[in-house]
Amino acid sequence: MFSFIFLSQFLIYFFLDIYINKHCQKRVTNFFNPFFKIFVNRSLTLENIKCYGFDMDYTLVAYKSPDYESMGFELLRDRMVSVGYPHEILRYTYDPSFPTRGLVVDTKYGNLLKVDSNGNVLVCTHGFRFLRGEDIQNYYPNKFIQRDDTERFYILNTLFNLSETYIYACLVDFFTRCNRYTNLLKGFQHGDLFMSYRSMFQDVRDAMDFIHDSGILKEQTIKNLEKYVVRDPNIPVLLTRMKKVAKVFLATNSDYNYTEAIMRYLFESNVKPGTPKLPWRSYFDLVVVDTRKPLFFGDGTVLRQVDTNTGKLRIGTYTGDLQHGTVYSGGSSDTVCDLLGVKGKDILYVGDHIFGDILKSKKRQGWKTFLVVPELTKELQVWEEKQNLFEELKRLDVFLAELYKMDMSYGQMGSLLRSGSTQTLFASQLIRYADLYSSSCINLLHYPFNYLFMAPPVLVSQLLHSCTRKTLLKSLFKKKKRKNGKMVIPLFAKYKKIYKSNWNAFVLFRHAGSS
Ligand SMILES: [Mg+2]
Repeated sequence: MFSFIFLSQFLIYFFLDIYINKHCQKRVTNFFNPFFKIFVNRSLTLENIKCYGFDMDYTLVAYKSPDYESMGFELLRDRMVSVGYPHEILRYTYDPSFPTRGLVVDTKYGNLLKVDSNGNVLVCTHGFRFLRGEDIQNYYPNKFIQRDDTERFYILNTLFNLSETYIYACLVDFFTRCNRYTNLLKGFQHGDLFMSYRSMFQDVRDAMDFIHDSGILKEQTIKNLEKYVVRDPNIPVLLTRMKKVAKVFLATNSDYNYTEAIMRYLFESNVKPGTPKLPWRSYFDLVVVDTRKPLFFGDGTVLRQVDTNTGKLRIGTYTGDLQHGTVYSGGSSDTVCDLLGVKGKDILYVGDHIFGDILKSKKRQGWKTFLVVPELTKELQVWEEKQNLFEELKRLDVFLAELYKMDMSYGQMGSLLRSGSTQTLFASQLIRYADLYSSSCINLLHYPFNYLFMAPPVLVSQLLHSCTRKTLLKSLFKKKKRKNGKMVIPLFAKYKKIYKSNWNAFVLFRHAGSS
């Protein structure tokens, strides 16, 4: 029975592979390249997707890192000084190796924490000082936090939060070292002035809101698009292909003027040779700006039309049918479904914000979700370079120090997804709410639009064995031999040996449709 199951699975994937390679050669050129890989948490058939939705910032638009975060940090730092923080903090410059997404700020003690999904503390810093053992225990008995205490703990989940994370570490570092201030458990004393860690974090949040709401961040970006925005000529190619098989919409929190400037730069200034130059709006069936996600996935706001000549909103709620080429403002996810005539289950929504884009669209609307995780490029690069070390360390726990060295290759806070072999809070949210995830939405180009993504058993096995399918296929073909003048494939007895030595590969192979 077992032999039959194994053999039948092998045959299915064997012929599937031949089919894919025969019919989809161009698109699967990078099929096995882990850097273009789309990872799967829940099975999904692209053929069933009738509508693709996109967020803009950090999804269709990739910002150049670390230049963009560095610019955001400088704006934040200058804002902090302008509201009264000491001029000495102007000496700090952005270090991209320090912050990672998914860190938790403890506003009571001013620490930055990397935690797992249960609230166990994996890494703890005070300013730029990494705390160890007893120091962590003093703050957090059992090295554990009640993550549900949202008054005290704030999760820095977005890519925009990176500069915010860093400025907070700079402030804590500065006041801790500055001898004009007295260090207390919950903040700093200077004469009759007490500055709590909580109030400092609130000031950072306010400064962040200021650089977004005042438009200064957008202004700086538009002034220097070459420096801050990645212009990938594959984006028009991807959307052109998508529009042939499904509807496509854009739903961004950004305003019309910023969206117009960015999308023109992406779609109209760098088309591939031989590709017609089209207005950016023609790539979408529907464009919605000012969406105010996550509110957009609930009650939403008033849907208005945007006057694309002036950028101003027309008064009144729009109640008509969808007009192609029109840009809308506000509305809700229900409005999008009504205008496009699609149901939630038919939509694959692509975004970078685990809460605003992915969690809400999944939990409240049942949309299929694709999370863009730009950091995966580096995560996979480190993984590819050092996976032998990790394999070794899995067997030899005593070399934990070496594992620590590997973690440091990601940055000072280690990997976005794990600490040693423990998954981070970010990784657990990613698994729970994103059906698919990848370093870029462009990677959809490497898969045919009738592709079946099959969910593998666990995330770790995907990362561990991202290349093993190819290895297994190679090893299977090596076993071909000539018998009575005929080329034959040895049957199960031979494969059993290979299978035994490739258990992990087999696990992936069973789910090879997703790889
Ligand atoms: Mg975004």
